[in-house]
Amino acid sequence: MAYGDYDGPNKPDKGKEGGSCNRTRCQCAPARWYNHGSYAWYCDDCRDQIYDAVGQRHWARDFPNVEHPMFETREMMDNRAAKSTKEPATCDPQP
Ligand SMILES: [Zn+2]
Repeated sequence: MAYGDYDGPNKPDKGKEGGSCNRTRCQCAPARWYNHGSYAWYCDDCRDQIYDAVGQRHWARDFPNVEHPMFETREMMDNRAAKSTKEPATCDPQP
């Protein structure tokens, strides 16, 4: 199914990690792309549609200080987190 094919009630796992795509007219599984703009998860097709050349330009323009792309997989976020823990944490409470 592609975006626009689905016309039913919201699935219980809509927008959740590994669940159904957050786009109401799609809701395909698995939703493995996290959208840092909407804080929800999307399927491969919708990620490609939303984060196309125009979407990438808007993301770079609206969030120039963000060093990650608008959409990331869990793996990409984990890799980024692993890297950032090598730097001193500033917001964690000290023991
Ligand atoms: Zn989708």
